[in-house]
Amino acid sequence: MRFAVVTIFPEIIEVYLKHGILGKAIKNGIIDVEVFNLRDFTEDRHKTVDDYPFGGGPGMVMKAQPFFKIYDFYIERFGKPYIVLTSPQGTVFDNKKAQELSQKEDVVFLCGRYEGIDERVMDIVDEELSIGDFVLSGGELAALVMMDATARFIKGVVEEESVKRESFMNDLLDHPVYTRPRNVRGKKVPEILLSGDHEKIEIWRRKESLKKTMLKRPDLFMKKENFDRFDKLALIELFKELTENAR
Ligand code: SAH
Repeated sequence: MRFAVVTIFPEIIEVYLKHGILGKAIKNGIIDVEVFNLRDFTEDRHKTVDDYPFGGGPGMVMKAQPFFKIYDFYIERFGKPYIVLTSPQGTVFDNKKAQELSQKEDVVFLCGRYEGIDERVMDIVDEELSIGDFVLSGGELAALVMMDATARFIKGVVEEESVKRESFMNDLLDHPVYTRPRNVRGKKVPEILLSGDHEKIEIWRRKESLKKTMLKRPDLFMKKENFDRFDKLALIELFKELTENAR
């Protein structure tokens, strides 16, 4: 899959892409990320990317032409991509949206700065996406957030088993995790994780997931529709635990 980011600060994107899971996926050729400096597509000597807003008011507005120029360039080189405009006015991005974007072949993120982008750029935008109800000073962090979460759903980027288990999959939050040593400041690892009994461990993990979700995110729990065998066994365990504690 190919991603592209259009920004006036390419370095912000590039430094993130050098590290961790995304860095590895790029190195292994599983994903490709093109970073375009909007300034390279300006049409004047001073490489101007912004201008005063018509009608007056504070701040500057990003000019439309450089975006259109990149659009034409991109299509000629790679074909028509799916264009996402990062914007606080968009639909709020979530895990489902990440999964949906990961099915596309070519996703381009447009990053605004200042007061935003000239409205006419909406003509080339397929979808406007926000990362939450707050205003950032630029779209770069939003593009990175969305690209990172999306890439995790592309086969080969993260171990498949690990993706399946993570928070929000099956409308549950992830279970707690522990690593060595067994004893940290007198706090011990739950005995069951050392038992080697995989079925029991799975039921315990599912029980903790259910507990966490019901307590921290009841809204998510209310959405959960499928209760598989492990969910049910875990609920039985949870009731046993509650009954024993009440005695
Ligand atoms: N005046 C605009 C905000 C501009 S903020 C408004 O009120 O709608 C500058 C840029 O930051 C935006 O063009 C967008 O690219 C990015 N941005 C800001 N908040 C964001 C959010 N919550 N999600 C995604 N992108 C955001």
